[in-house]
Amino acid sequence: MNKEKVTIVGAGPGGLTAAITLAKAGYEPIVYEQNQSVGQRFNGDFQGLENWSDEEDTLRFLDKLGLKVNFLCHPYTGKDGYFFGPKLKKITVQTSRPLFYLVERGSNSHSLDQGLKAQAEEAGVKILWGEKLEAIPTGRAIVGTGPKAADAIAKGLIFKTSHEDVFIGYLDNKIAPKAYSYLLVNNGSATFATCMFDDFRNEKIYYERAFNVMRQTVDIDIRDEKEFGGFVNFFNEPVLAKDERILYIGENAGFQDALWGFGIKYAMLSGYLAAKSIIDGTSYEELCRKHIYPKLQTSLANRWLFAQLHNPGYNYLLNKMSKMEDVISPLRRHYNISFSKKITYRLAKRWYRSRLIDKQCMHEHCDCVWCRHGKHAHAST
Ligand SMILES: Cc1cc2nc3c(=O)[nH]c(=O)nc-3n(C[C@H](O)[C@H](O)[C@H](O)COP(=O)(O)OP(=O)(O)OC[C@H]3O[C@@H](n4cnc5c(N)ncnc54)[C@H](O)[C@@H]3O)c2cc1C
Repeated sequence: MNKEKVTIVGAGPGGLTAAITLAKAGYEPIVYEQNQSVGQRFNGDFQGLENWSDEEDTLRFLDKLGLKVNFLCHPYTGKDGYFFGPKLKKITVQTSRPLFYLVERGSNSHSLDQGLKAQAEEAGVKILWGEKLEAIPTGRAIVGTGPKAADAIAKGLIFKTSHEDVFIGYLDNKIAPKAYSYLLVNNGSATFATCMFDDFRNEKIYYERAFNVMRQTVDIDIRDEKEFGGFVNFFNEPVLAKDERILYIGENAGFQDALWGFGIKYAMLSGYLAAKSIIDGTSYEELCRKHIYPKLQTSLANRWLFAQLHNPGYNYLLNKMSKMEDVISPLRRHYNISFSKKITYRLAKRWYRSRLIDKQCMHEHCDCVWCRHGKHAHAST
């Protein structure tokens, strides 16, 4: 019997999760990836699989999606790091389980991207490298080509160090407007970055200030450093499908944690749901409404709340967190849909403007927005 072919555009966490799910169900997914390898959009920087927004632990989440942990996936609990607010007071928090799992992005052998690629190949997925799709072929397709605009940006440094493993988070609008800076050290490698949800034009100034604050607060040696940068996008109203034939997943659909930019789990989950909708004949939109939208919407409500805090609010928040017996449950409650969150979401929806000007244009030509609309969008920030 001929297997049904499904075109998948983009070998990111979203596209590869979709491909693995389809291949295991007997389909023939063909992944088109514009680069010669996975993770080329990243630089070997560390990222986190957050572990606070869902009831289940992230390892269980991966398991439920049928994914193995064949990549660096190191748990960091409250004991493994600390936070600084604008007053540079060191704050520690208590956690009943890991706060996040550190993963590496990029092409190194133990990266998340390489791990997913290996699982895809093991499942029999065909990946066509260096194939940039300009138009979607006939038949079913899943598009996971990543972000097309910058609703938040990050500028950072990866380096080698002899410092012990640690995570440090910084909240201060002078170094990370409406966002945060972070230092992640694992096994002699480190990632430092500052993120911005506002005032992108001054990214260099914020980065320099953030770097100085990091040097002031941590005694860390830096070797073999390399700068990196990146961006994420978030749509208030995700674009899910075109003609029911093409399904959009991950950041391409606009799935992203609007509060802090933790988009990997969204990408994987939406890739999985898109594949399941093809396999089971269920509606992708319904699956997303059930499994993604509640959290996505509360993340926007949380973004609005966070944007109202400013520096005194960050001090208050961190002090409050330091007194909690466990920060995981209160953090998770903030991602639960509730009456107050619904009201806040309505406010946030009116307040939030994605910098993506034209959502449609990328769907047939997946790479046009960042270079064309992106410039336009920057001019308006
Ligand atoms: C600096 C930075 C730090 C981050 N930190 C975190 C974090 O700590 N935790 C977290 O959860 N998230 C984090 N994110 C966000 C996270 O990386 C993304 O949300 C996630 O990678 C999105 O996955 P995706 O599969 O949707 O897209 P991507 O990972 O962007 O993958 C898309 C793939 O599609 C390919 N592609 C694009 N266009 C075409 C085309 N036309 N034809 C063929 N292939 C194409 C690209 O080359 C790429 O390989 C961070 C992002 C940045 C930039």
